Amino acid sequence: MAFHRKLIAGIAVAFALLISVEAISYRSVLQNENDRQWVTHTHLVIEKLDAVLSNLIDAETGQRAFLLTGDRLFLDPYVAALPFVQKNVQDLQELTADNPIQQRSLQRLKPLVSAKLDYLRDSIDNRGRQPDLRPSVPLDRIEKGRMDEIRSVLADMKSEEQSLLAVRAKELTETGAKTKSAIVLGHSLALFLLIFAGVVTFKEMAHRRAAEEHIQKLNADLEKRVAERTAQLAKYSEELQRSNIELQQFAYVASHDLQEPLRMVASFTQLLAKRYKEKLDDDARTFIAYAVDGATRMQTLISDLLSYSRVGSQGRAFERISCDQVLDRVLSNLKLLIAESGAAITRQPLPDVLADPQQLGQLFQNLIANAIKFRGEIAPRVDITVSQNREEWEIVVRDNGIGIAPEHAERIFIIFQRLHTRTEYPGTGIGLAVCKKIVERHGGRIWVQASPGEGSAFYFTIPVTAAREGQESAHHELRTAVSTD
Ligand code: ADP
Repeated sequence: MAFHRKLIAGIAVAFALLISVEAISYRSVLQNENDRQWVTHTHLVIEKLDAVLSNLIDAETGQRAFLLTGDRLFLDPYVAALPFVQKNVQDLQELTADNPIQQRSLQRLKPLVSAKLDYLRDSIDNRGRQPDLRPSVPLDRIEKGRMDEIRSVLADMKSEEQSLLAVRAKELTETGAKTKSAIVLGHSLALFLLIFAGVVTFKEMAHRRAAEEHIQKLNADLEKRVAERTAQLAKYSEELQRSNIELQQFAYVASHDLQEPLRMVASFTQLLAKRYKEKLDDDARTFIAYAVDGATRMQTLISDLLSYSRVGSQGRAFERISCDQVLDRVLSNLKLLIAESGAAITRQPLPDVLADPQQLGQLFQNLIANAIKFRGEIAPRVDITVSQNREEWEIVVRDNGIGIAPEHAERIFIIFQRLHTRTEYPGTGIGLAVCKKIVERHGGRIWVQASPGEGSAFYFTIPVTAAREGQESAHHELRTAVSTD
């Protein structure tokens, strides 16, 4: 699993854990609060129970003092306690509403308290009506019994509350402990998760940093090696260029220098045949004819070779020219051939390009002449079209001639490679090699699409912008080196 997925999963688990712990803590706190309220409530009930007894004792104390003295001043405790007695009993009724035991006790207590209050009130009223009565406190057994019963009921109720208090206090202590544990556990877990996440992230960061450093090192090594290799390639390419120039120079010089001795051989052999015609027999004349023919063919080959090597060595500087004008010139050169063969030529408007006008003309001329030369049974037809393909113009010379088998598509661009004998179609096999060299000098490509009997389409490209600088300067260098013609 990827690091960020692991991290997200870890965070989700930690989050879920924390939420659970927090929920438990929250519940414990609520429970604790609830228990505390119950303990407080029990204390309140006990207080009220004590208050009822204390109110009654106060009321009785006031009543007794008044009965003894007849002095109303001693009634103060009675008057002060009276309003609270019933109120406290009423409060107890409400406070213990949820406890049936206490409610039953209250049912016993309420008539006793009322009777007690009635008795107190009546005895005070009687004494008030007899101010001269000898002071005495009547010994009333019924009243003593009632007060004892009140005490007993209140004691029962208090005992019930105290046992409840004991249970609730215990619960309170327990929930308090639970709450503390939950909070401590929750915070410990959070702290642990935080430390764990920190350690994992730190480790991952360290791991990444190490990986990045490794990659940087690899990149640096790679760049160094690429730079070394590039320098090496540049050196090779320079050497290759130099050796190419030397080779072209050699081919040019060799073919140029061979021309002269060959011309001598041809012309002296011809002279020999002419002067000694009468003295030679038929065999000798045939042999001399072969020698003349061989020398003439060799002259043609050498002159082809020379024109081939001139593409590289004698090319002119590139200039912006109109392909249409170049084509006009070529068609005018081929006027006779077109007329003789009855060829139909169609053409699209061609672009202006940066090229050697002479060589561009030669390229068109070779392709169109071939299209007419390698015609089939029907009248030749040549279509010249153009399209712009990204950074280059793509020009097509298409014919309806004999076509070419696809397996020869590469071979025909090699110098002196022909698919036919000289008796079938004249030629030396130099035309397409020259075309290839011209196109390449201009930074383009040339290829053929054809099949036997279905005509051929020769494609060549020429850059929309200028030809490669390096190539041009190399040719320029060569031109200066071999300017002997
Ligand atoms: P050449 O025309 O002197 O034979 P090229 O180099 O011009 O030499 O052509 C090489 C060979 O390619 C030709 O001999 C011919 O077989 C084939 N070829 C060239 N152009 C065409 C064409 N338009 N249709 C059919 N074959 C062709």
